[in-house]
Amino acid sequence: MKVGVLAFQGAVREHINMLKMAGAYPIPVKKEEELNDVDALILPGGESTVIGKFLRETGLGKIIVEKAKNGMPIWGTCAGMILLAKKIVNEDYVHLGLMDIWVRRNAYGSQLDSFIVRKVVPAVSEKPLELIFIRAPYAEKAGPNVEVLLELDGKIVAARQGNLLATAFHPEVTGDPSFHKYFLDIVCLN
Ligand code: GLN
Repeated sequence: MKVGVLAFQGAVREHINMLKMAGAYPIPVKKEEELNDVDALILPGGESTVIGKFLRETGLGKIIVEKAKNGMPIWGTCAGMILLAKKIVNEDYVHLGLMDIWVRRNAYGSQLDSFIVRKVVPAVSEKPLELIFIRAPYAEKAGPNVEVLLELDGKIVAARQGNLLATAFHPEVTGDPSFHKYFLDIVCLN
């Protein structure tokens, strides 16, 4: 399967390495031709305002919205989760607005910018996974069509809505391809 990684900014190389480990064929995506060549897409972590600006300026955002509505599997990690959300509760703009989640940017504040926890995410793996949060968002609520995959202290940090997957943390920097396999095996094939 050809999986695109939106390659304007952020943790692009890390996702590409993990996709290879998980048995997919990764393609960095910056142009429409590249987007048209892939079966699925990852929106990496980074800075959502920067990536969002590129999406608007290049017109790729509109094409991604169309493709998502036609069923293309899309996974947003961290900044990518913010890009997917229908509502950003502490901002007055929205990017792709595809997924029925209400996210808070930089939700864990400045003194707790980054942290790591180990948790079982039942849909993904029976063993505890390392979850790395870097200036991460969380979702405060989700619509009825959203399957919550993991909550942390009552906040949604992993969720799926059909072909759309969002994680507040960064599986691509852990060395464990479980989440990438979940995206390829479950989200992309259902
Ligand atoms: N805080 C960043 C943002 O708002 C996201 C951080 C990340 O992707 N690691 O875009």
